[in-house]
Amino acid sequence: MDRSELLAMVKRLGAEFRRRGMHGHLAPLRLYWLALRHDLVQPDRHGLHVQLSEEMVVEWFKLLRLPPYERAYPVQPPGSRCPRCPPADGPAKEVVTERTFPEGRKVACLACRAAWLELEPTTRMGRGSDASRRKLS
Ligand SMILES: [Zn+2]
Repeated sequence: MDRSELLAMVKRLGAEFRRRGMHGHLAPLRLYWLALRHDLVQPDRHGLHVQLSEEMVVEWFKLLRLPPYERAYPVQPPGSRCPRCPPADGPAKEVVTERTFPEGRKVACLACRAAWLELEPTTRMGRGSDASRRKLS
């Protein structure tokens, strides 16, 4: 569908939501309209998938070590075992990568839920298409 046509439909739908008191649907539709208007949607079918919250913003501060959260997670060398679980009992406890970002990843221990960051040793170039994001400060 043509973007201007879709914009008109979104606007019409918003008016309908408002008229019917469907305010819970109105706020996301307004966001969608703004994203559509400013060309911030996916090229494929004009999709917008956004789920953000205060918690997620704070989490990103912690992952990217931005003040005042720069020490929220300890930093461990890549491939570390859990710093909290005892090392002696059998094979290494299972750890999972919870999130990746250009400089590294957040890893968590499945046994004790401890979380830490593992940063790539060569951080200058970053990796893949995310590399350019490093310039943001
Ligand atoms: Zn652990």
